Amino acid sequence: MTQQIGSTVLGYPRIGPDRELKRAVERYWAGTLGEDGLRAAAAELRRSTWTGLRDAGLGSVSSNTFSYYDHVLDMARTVGAVPARFAELGRSDIDTLFAMARGTDGVAPLELTKFFDTNYHYLVPELGPDTALRLADRKPVDEYREARAAGVETRPVLLGPVSFLLMAKGHGVDPLDLLDRLVEVYAELLGELAAAGASWVQLDEPAFVADRSGRELAALGTAYRALGAVAARPKILVAAYYGDLGPALQVLAESPVEAISLDLVAGASDLSAAAALPALREKTVLAGVVDGRNVWRTDLDVALGTAATLLGTAGRVEIATSCSLLHVPYDVEGEPALGVVKDRLAFAAQKVEEVVLLGRALHEGRDAVASEFAAAKALRAVDRADERDEHVRARLDTLGADHYRRGSADARTAAQRSHLALGPVPTTTIGSFPQTAQIRKDRAAHRSGTLDDAAYESRMRAEIERVIRLQEEIGLDVLVHGEPERNDMVQYFAENLAGFAITQNGWVQSYGTRCVRPPVLYADVSRPAPITVGWSSYAQSLTSKPVKAMLTGPVTILAWSFVRADQPLGETARQVGLALRDEVRDLEAAGLRVIQVDEPALRELLPLRAAAQPAYLEWSVDAFRLVTGGVADSTQVHTHLCYSEFEVVVPAIDALDADVTTVEAARSSMAELEQLGTGVTRGIGPGVYDVHSPQVPSTAEIERLLSAAGTWVTPDRLWANPDCGLKTRGEREVTAALRNLVAAARAVRP
Ligand code: GLN
Ligand code: ZN
Repeated sequence: MTQQIGSTVLGYPRIGPDRELKRAVERYWAGTLGEDGLRAAAAELRRSTWTGLRDAGLGSVSSNTFSYYDHVLDMARTVGAVPARFAELGRSDIDTLFAMARGTDGVAPLELTKFFDTNYHYLVPELGPDTALRLADRKPVDEYREARAAGVETRPVLLGPVSFLLMAKGHGVDPLDLLDRLVEVYAELLGELAAAGASWVQLDEPAFVADRSGRELAALGTAYRALGAVAARPKILVAAYYGDLGPALQVLAESPVEAISLDLVAGASDLSAAAALPALREKTVLAGVVDGRNVWRTDLDVALGTAATLLGTAGRVEIATSCSLLHVPYDVEGEPALGVVKDRLAFAAQKVEEVVLLGRALHEGRDAVASEFAAAKALRAVDRADERDEHVRARLDTLGADHYRRGSADARTAAQRSHLALGPVPTTTIGSFPQTAQIRKDRAAHRSGTLDDAAYESRMRAEIERVIRLQEEIGLDVLVHGEPERNDMVQYFAENLAGFAITQNGWVQSYGTRCVRPPVLYADVSRPAPITVGWSSYAQSLTSKPVKAMLTGPVTILAWSFVRADQPLGETARQVGLALRDEVRDLEAAGLRVIQVDEPALRELLPLRAAAQPAYLEWSVDAFRLVTGGVADSTQVHTHLCYSEFEVVVPAIDALDADVTTVEAARSSMAELEQLGTGVTRGIGPGVYDVHSPQVPSTAEIERLLSAAGTWVTPDRLWANPDCGLKTRGEREVTAALRNLVAAARAVRP
């Protein structure tokens, strides 16, 4: 019996078409839903996903893509990587899982970090000398059986052993040293899957689309030779995605695995590399031609052509998504309000249809699906005149080097000294103040039309005035308006710029039960009218202290949106940059003397391969400089970067040429920031209040952090500020923390 894998998707959303899982899990946490209820909701979601994928006509349906919180966490539990502090709690399976994800009773959770260059976040497995790897949990087998009982034959999906180790954190051990033992655990799991009836298993090895050492590549070969040698096992599909496999492709081609999937959207170079690997003639290659990370309909003819070029290379070719569909919303049919843009979009359900169609075209011939191809082409070809804005393009053509350049640092320092009159170690915040239930209610009422513009405006103004008075009373030096009008730092700008569409139901899991609704950037970007100027200038009118205006930068806006695929990202960044430049100039003209452009995503969009990083950093830095390059020397430009892992980006941060850079630092040791102090030549505000914690830092603690920072940055360059916006914190704790911050800054001033 030769079972071919057939065309497939590498994974599917799991939060539920109406976020059923999010709601059920949150109710379970709140104690309003019992474990049985939660499990029933999860089972129903799994069942409807499997049967839906089968009925859509996929050749192979994935399973074990469901997760209560995170699939990397699930894999850690499956292989017994549960740190003692959680096992010792003696809780039920599901509560142990949630404790690992969220922490409990003074027990710190696993660290949460970004999943490669996506907006998904995973929990970092912890491996130590006491970690006893073993097949501790049988979720993949149980879910395979469950699907089978529901009448659906599936292909369990597992995070591969080598990526698992490369994504884990070793405490006193080098994770890769545990490979042999871990492979034994996987071998046992494969044996159980085969015994349960599984004919295929998918092992994901996304870590190999980043640069890897010879040792790491060798580990990949070792692992798959060993798994290939397991006597009774399902056939193995190795999936790597988010880029090209580079040298790992040859390692896999020469291993005994039966199938490899290639991300031909992000890693087109694998196509030519594959042609030079005779070993692939023995294997099935899945052509990942349907983009799993973006929301556009596929050009089916181009995709078919790409897949067809593999026909002479591989023993068999099947169609796949480039990666899991975890990163896209469920269904465009949930977006009736999107108008013409909707026709151009494909969410998960539509991408499944595309994979099925392409698979049929590949095996039965294009004629068999000619009418479906024609219909899809017609949708893609709908009038797209709205995508081009000739005025924007003409303006961009006129930009020269001057648009990206400000005066010398010395000239700016002098001009700002007299314009702002700030002493050493000035105090400020990052922009948002606690968002009360009332503020959220007012915003929602305004959106739904039950609160008219005038009433909304007066409520927001009242809030701004309250926040200004509070800051004055606390004694901060550079004030903010508090951002009460903003739902989200990207969506707010997307709603106010031309070129973006906002979905109603386009939710995507970010981590656990947290979902985001990325805007869709579909056309040339421009700014129809000033966005923040009214709020910021109102705030400035209330006080003689400088008020800092806040904008979200172009890289962050792109990173947290679905972006156009028809032009380079750098070109789109320039359009966003130009629109924000207009805003910055209007803010300056309205009397704002300090302007902050937030770029928390600068680091996270960094390409996975070193070779691609310089070009990225060049266009991203340019976009920032385009935003800020039009102001006078006397206007102080701030940027806020959120994270604290700089290594590779320090030169780029310096190249942003901001007058002041604020970063997250409260949770790292201040000493780690030394490289920032030497690499960035202007003002630096290492965050000294951890806004992710409800703790109020004492004056002594903040003083200690500021003094530690003082070893690598002089007082004339040092700022005192929290490490991020305050919007998720409570009013009382924020007020107390800021008072301590002001007192500490005063204490360290020379
Ligand atoms: N200005 C934003 C705020 O204060 C910055 C948020 C962020 O860096 N993530 O909320
Ligand atoms: Zn931040």
